[in-house]
Parts: sequence; structure tokens; C-alpha cells
Amino acid sequence: MTSLSAVDKTRYIALTDELPCLVSQALLKCSSLPTLPAVALKILEIARTPDATLHDYAQAIEYDPALTARLIAVANSVQFIHSSQPVDTSLEATQRLGLDATLATVLSFSLLRHAQGNKTQVRIWQRAITSAIVASRLAHQLCPAHRGSTFIAALLQDIGILALQAAYPQEVEKLYAHSESSHQQIARTERQQFGCDHTLVGAWLAAKWDMPTSLVDAIYQSHDGFLTDQLATLCVRLSGPIADAWLSEEPVSAFATLLRQLSAMESAPLLTLDNLLHRLQEDLAIVADTLQLAQPIDMDSHALLIEAQQLLFQHTLTLSARLDEQTQRLESLHQHYATLEKQSRLDPLTQLANRAWLEEQLRERFVFCQENNRTMSVVFIDLDHFKTLNDRYGHRIGDQVLEHFGHTLSSLIRTGDLAGRYGGEEFLIILPDETAQSAKLFSQRITQHLQERPMTNVDQQPIYVSVSIGVACLCDGDFGNERELIDAADQSMYFIKRSGRGGIATYGGE
Ligand code: GH3
Ligand code: MG
Ligand code: MG
Repeated sequence: MTSLSAVDKTRYIALTDELPCLVSQALLKCSSLPTLPAVALKILEIARTPDATLHDYAQAIEYDPALTARLIAVANSVQFIHSSQPVDTSLEATQRLGLDATLATVLSFSLLRHAQGNKTQVRIWQRAITSAIVASRLAHQLCPAHRGSTFIAALLQDIGILALQAAYPQEVEKLYAHSESSHQQIARTERQQFGCDHTLVGAWLAAKWDMPTSLVDAIYQSHDGFLTDQLATLCVRLSGPIADAWLSEEPVSAFATLLRQLSAMESAPLLTLDNLLHRLQEDLAIVADTLQLAQPIDMDSHALLIEAQQLLFQHTLTLSARLDEQTQRLESLHQHYATLEKQSRLDPLTQLANRAWLEEQLRERFVFCQENNRTMSVVFIDLDHFKTLNDRYGHRIGDQVLEHFGHTLSSLIRTGDLAGRYGGEEFLIILPDETAQSAKLFSQRITQHLQERPMTNVDQQPIYVSVSIGVACLCDGDFGNERELIDAADQSMYFIKRSGRGGIATYGGE
């Protein structure tokens, strides 16, 4: 067993430095700081040894006659008396009370001697006792060898509040008057008011008492998250929130929140909360009776957890419904954007590429062909006498013809080709990798199609159109840019216009 006197003072000095100046002065000046008598220190020392027996505790307690008398009185109190003969030694008393109740009694006797009647202190102590029993039960499940030290650490985790209360009685009384404030809210207010919270003050006090570093650290880090691979540390950090949920005025939603936090833990140890809460109820009843604290209200822990789980489930459902809704909204925004983007490239009447998109694609294709030694052809198409058609049948019929002609081109091109409306009744088709020869064959398919099929009907009379087509292949000229290629195709097309319309001419050809 390590000796308490062996603990060095560096931690105490460091924590004193860490305290805000005014707070450390007030604490050091305060004559009513909680103190631990020698017997309590001894008990704490025993609790740190994994193989401590009840016998060890009983022996230590015997050194303090007042404490022994108290323990025996407690063991003989109403809660225990009905089952057996009255006890009259500290060993019998510890055996009857069990470890948790013995430790709770010893420390409460030492720390709460003057606290009777002070509501705030009783509330703090109730949380401390509940946390301690929770921590002890958790340790029983997760790390049985550390049960004693875990109980002590959880019990003393809020000792800083008692120290602050001794140094600043009025301020602290006001601070804790709101019983509905959560423990985290209390710590936040402390930091605003004093510049530090009770975890630092508690750790400082424990170091002042020459408590071992592990206990000082456990108090200092008692508010830290559940992410730790130290099971004993986890037991202490879980104990406060579980105690808060248990003592909460709305335990169902408090446990639902807690269950959510626990489920977010990546490698949560297997905790059987149901069993834990059931035993907590029993243990608390014993300890509350022992310490003459108010008896906790009777709660059906099983029903409580089921309700909390249902509440959590409802929250999760609501959240996932909201997530679904947002995903759908995002999806439709994506679709809307994609549609807009596509439309920005299309000519609305013919649903072919518009001029801007045609030119951009042709520019890219031109560079690609130059860099990769590839070729392509462009086909420039102008509808013949279209003005006359408009004049004769009306603009609406003219539109129908353009629309139908657009569909015709779409049906004739292959994947990889791009057909677009270059201007009013002018169309351009990009044919990658095609020579003038094959582009001409393609153009012939267009003219043949137009000879065979009318583009619309007026009064049941079919309306046929003819076109003038100019073809230019990249490999048939020394073109500096894509514009020059289009001009070449346009010139060829004009050659057909001048020759009477309705035909195909190839740039550089016959
Ligand atoms: P050419 O054989 O020499 O090409 O004679 P054209 O009448 O076809 O050529 P011109 O350039 O003289 O006239 C083109 C006509 O196309 C004039 C214009 O009103 C018509 N046009 C242009 N865009 C549209 C459109 O979107 N809808 C309709 N209905 N007509 C259009
Ligand atoms: Mg024209
Ligand atoms: Mg025309």
C-alpha cells in the first residue's frame, strides 16, 4: 500500500498556480474549507488498494470512536435491523452495510458534519452519493478491481463546489438556487463568475489533502467526454450524467439524451443500464437511509428506460425523416440544375445544340484534332426559300418545319456527332473523324430523307423542303481555326445556292 505522505507537492503547487489569483487567495484565506480527518484519509488510502477487504476498513474506522459509533448506529438503523441481530463492532457494521454504504458514511460523516439543513449542500451531496453508487456499480461491471477508488473519485468529483461554497457562501448559494440548471450550465456559470469551475477547485483541494494524482486527475477531468480507454475513468465520467438523469425532474428525456450520447460512443463497453438502475434504486435507498438524506422517489427503472428508448427512437425517426426530406430537396435541386444546364446548351425550338454550344464544341474539337493528328468534317445546311415558305404558310408553319427538321437531323446523326442550329434556318453538324467523302454520304442521306418525307402538312397537303449543303473537312485545307472551317463549309453551301439550290458541295472538291 502506498503511503499518502509519499505524494509530492508539485501537483498542488501547479494547481494553485492554475487557479485564478483571486480564487486561490480566497480559498487559502478560508478557514471553513472542507477537511478530511485522519481516519477518512486512511479509508481513502485503503480504497486505492485493489485487494482491500472489509476487515481493512473496519480496522481503520476503529481508530475514530465517534465514527465507529456512527457506523454502528447506522448499521442498526431501521433499514437493516429487521434482518438480523444488532451489531456492535465496526467490522460487523461494515459487513452489514457493505462497501459502498460504509464509504459513503465515512466520507459524509467527515465532510458533511456541519452541513445539516443546508439545502444546497444536501443537493450536492445527493448527486455525489448517487454518482458514487453509479460509478461503483459500473466498475462492478467493467473493472471490479477499481470499485473502491472509483466510488471515492465519483463521490469527491464535486467537492470543489463545497470548497467554493466555503469561500463564497452568498455567491454560491445564488448560483445553485436554480435546481433546474444542468451540471454543465452550473460549470459554465462558475467559469463566468470565478474564472474557473469546480473541477479545478476540487482537484486543487484533493491535492491539498495529499490525495494521489490519479484521484486529483479523476476530479479534474470528471466533466471530460466519454472517449477514454481507461474503464475506471469512464466509470467516473459516466457517473455524474447518469446521476443527473436519475435525479432529474424529467428523467425520461434526460435518459433519452444520455442513451443518444452513449450510442454515439464508438467502442462503448457493454453497459447493462437496466440492471444498473435497478440496483441503484436499492443501493440509494440504503445509503439515503444511512445518511439521513431524503429517500429517493420510487421509480420503475425498467419502464423508465423503455420510455427513454422510445423517446430516443421518436427523435431518431424525426431526424431521419428530416434528413430524407433534405436529401430529396437536394436531389431535385441537382436535377433542376442539370436541366437548366442542359437547356442552356439547347435551342428551344429544335432541341438541337444552340450556336454557343456548337462553337464551343467545335473549338475544343479543333484543338483536339490538331494535337492528336485527327480529322473531322463539318456540314453546313441552309433551308431553301424559307422566307417564301414563311410568307406563304405563316410563321407558325415555318416553325413546325424547323422543329421537324431538327428531329430529322437528330435521327440521322450517330453517337459522338453533334447537330445544332447555327442561325434562323441554318444548321451545322460536326462529324468527328469523318472525311469529306463520308460527310458527303451522310449529307446525301439528309437530302434523300427530305425528298421522301414532308416536314409538315398544310390542309392535308404535304410540305417538302430542300436544302443547300456545304461540306468541309479539316484535312482538306490549311485551317487556322474552327471559324475558318465553318467559313469553308458556308462557302461551299453558297456555291449550291448560286447553282440553283438543292444540292451538296464539298470544300476543295469538284
Ligand atoms: P435561301 O434559299 O437563299 O436561303 O432563301 P431563304 O428565304 O431561305 O433565306 P433568307 O436568308 O432570305 O431568309 C431566311 C428566312 O428564315 C427569313 C426568316 O424570317 C426566317 N426565319 C429565321 N428564323 C426563323 C424562325 O425561327 N422561325 C420561322 N418561322 N422563320 C424563321
Ligand atoms: Mg439563309
Ligand atoms: Mg435559306
